[in-house]
Amino acid sequence: TNLWGDDDDDLLLFHAVADGVGEEPTGQGECGRFPGKDADTQLVPLEKFRHGYLWVSDFGQQMWCEQKVFYTFTLPTVVEEDVKMMKGTGLHLARELAAHETVPVNITSSEDIWAVKILNLLATIQNFLNGGLLAREIPVFGAPFSEDVFMVGIIDELRFDPESYTIDLSELKTRTTKSNPSKCQQKQHEVQAMLYKKLFDDLVKGVTSKELVARHLKLDLGRPLGESIRQHVDKHGLSAVSLDGLMDHIFGMIQGLTCISQLFVEYVFQDTHETLSHNEIQYCESDLEGQFKHYLQFWRSQRLAEGVEIEEAWKCQKCEFASVCDWRKRKGEEYAMKNMEKNRLG
Ligand code: SF4
Repeated sequence: TNLWGDDDDDLLLFHAVADGVGEEPTGQGECGRFPGKDADTQLVPLEKFRHGYLWVSDFGQQMWCEQKVFYTFTLPTVVEEDVKMMKGTGLHLARELAAHETVPVNITSSEDIWAVKILNLLATIQNFLNGGLLAREIPVFGAPFSEDVFMVGIIDELRFDPESYTIDLSELKTRTTKSNPSKCQQKQHEVQAMLYKKLFDDLVKGVTSKELVARHLKLDLGRPLGESIRQHVDKHGLSAVSLDGLMDHIFGMIQGLTCISQLFVEYVFQDTHETLSHNEIQYCESDLEGQFKHYLQFWRSQRLAEGVEIEEAWKCQKCEFASVCDWRKRKGEEYAMKNMEKNRLG
């Protein structure tokens, strides 16, 4: 396990973990047959595929095609770390390193892993409270809309304006072609940015408590933090020896900030790093809540996975599961039947 942060300054970057708790997952899992409860264990997809909490990016992928998300977990797939993906990751990293440096931190427990996330959040709060204007790769978490499902995400960029006392969020998306994405992809990115705002704002409003975090992540709040983490806690001028004290400090401090004002998605051409567009998003909490609850039904086994409708069948053309997809086959048959009926009626 390696964590990287800044020895002299104040930002830590969560770099890698051995048990998969801290990195965004790839989605691959064991083979299954049906998107309901597992026949043997009675586990719902949330427990079976995601160990009880979700990533914000899970919802973006669901918006693209939920059936594909299900196949990604249950059928063998090949993870392709191709040149395009590496370029995109490299651009994110370059921007992050332009905002702060990193140092290694030794991790000894799950509590340490989450302490690093919380220290990274602390660095952002202290930065803004001390007059800083920019922060990147900011961890956020919580259980939005009182649904008792824990979510984790990493905001690409926050900008603080001390004069107006506002914070704006920007989500970076890299493009392999020199054009903006389809409306459908833009919608995915917008929902992702809105969920980040919701999680951040809930922290600012005190909706997210340390008890909630501990319960969902099965953390022991009183467990002493590892030596390496304690040193970094000291550097921040705090005296906490466990997550309990650390979260008291940080949750108290973040309530001194303000909720996110404006949301943007920036599209950047990855070959030249040229910004293609920087679009403002209108936040609508009721829309977000409706979509959030709909997508949660899949994770809770309250309904089967849904694939794409016929109008978006173009998505299937590049899908690696197209040859085995039951949804696509069924929709194709329905479409053919409708056409035959139409022709018969003249
Ligand atoms: Fe979704 Fe189409 Fe892929 Fe099926 S083939 S999983 S409907 S994108």
